[in-house]
Amino acid sequence: MTFKVGVIGGGQLARMMVPPAIELGIDIRVLAEAEGMSAAIAATAVGDYTDLETVEAFAAGVDVVTFDHEHVPQAVLRALLDAGVSVQPGPDALQFAQDKLAMRERLGELGIPMPDWARIETPEQLDDFIAEHGGRAVVKTARGGYDGKGVRVVESAAQVEEWFLALDQDGGPDAGALLAEELVDFRRELAQLVARRPSGDTTLWPVVESVQRDGVCAEVIAPAPGSAGKVAEMAARIGITIAEELGVTGVLAVELFETTDKRILVNELAMRPHNTGHWTIDGSTTSQFEQHLRAVLDLPFGATGHREPWSVMVNILGGPADGDLDGPAALALADQPTAKLHLYGKEPRPGRKIGHVTVSGDDLDEVVFQARAAAAFFAN
Ligand code: ADP
Repeated sequence: MTFKVGVIGGGQLARMMVPPAIELGIDIRVLAEAEGMSAAIAATAVGDYTDLETVEAFAAGVDVVTFDHEHVPQAVLRALLDAGVSVQPGPDALQFAQDKLAMRERLGELGIPMPDWARIETPEQLDDFIAEHGGRAVVKTARGGYDGKGVRVVESAAQVEEWFLALDQDGGPDAGALLAEELVDFRRELAQLVARRPSGDTTLWPVVESVQRDGVCAEVIAPAPGSAGKVAEMAARIGITIAEELGVTGVLAVELFETTDKRILVNELAMRPHNTGHWTIDGSTTSQFEQHLRAVLDLPFGATGHREPWSVMVNILGGPADGDLDGPAALALADQPTAKLHLYGKEPRPGRKIGHVTVSGDDLDEVVFQARAAAAFFAN
């Protein structure tokens, strides 16, 4: 019997599930949003993931449905469950990756350390929150944000006036509020990746450091330098607690802040393979993409140890202005033979994630240099 996994969403995360699926003999199918997407290599259907009929028809041919993104509406997910489809992660868990306010409320109940936050319905409430937090706050839309879109540092409610106006128009129960957070004075950002099977088993990779530029992940260092001991223990405990208490299945990424006073606070959750785990393809015995497939099929986990002491991943953002990737790719491969280049089959566009480079080795400075040098050939 061949396991059949259906992935909703045709981006690079679905694409990177394809090689381990081939290796494990898994029949992987993708429901892509449009023709020619990153995962087109495996796409067996193109259609609207918000349309129940389309998603049901796709799900009918697979053993389990999983995701490349978190945007499939709750109503669609719950209808799939009612129809007897295995949805991993399920809607009860996914809601906390879909709605940042729901996530803050739930993690608060669990006593997980977080930035100070508040549910904001009016500009007056936001101005009060700002006044109570040193004259500045981070405001986030509860839904639909990614890569820093939907996140703004403000000194007054007037700076997110249009978000309040949009709230008034949306009207729905979840659409009626914004999330305000204290502006955290962080030393660095970390990410803890965990995988959990429906039968309950969990596994995790070491906590990593993620370097963000303009709200987008630029580089990842695995493991996070100086994290051995207390930091790694705190991050692991938080990751496992969230995976278990929220009933997450598949890969869970917990984005964290390490504060200047050595606390670890949860920023946000992603319930799918994550950019901070791309290094695992080349740097870990089992990649996050393989582990995600194993998890959603409830198969035993692979080992998560490092192949080399350090791995560094550098994202390729934007790409060359003339759109030619072949030239830079040939130069990068020639210049940095230790670099593992991953291109996503996407058209270069300013700021767009079109690929990444990973280098692993035992000297962190050298590894950083080589990974940056390879990625630099794609600069515009
Ligand atoms: P997205 O959903 O777009 O990824 P995040 O909530 O992860 O949004 O925020 C994007 C980035 O903004 C974070 O990686 C971090 O650099 C910064 N940020 C978010 N929340 C805070 C906060 N409370 N304090 C300081 N910086 C923050």
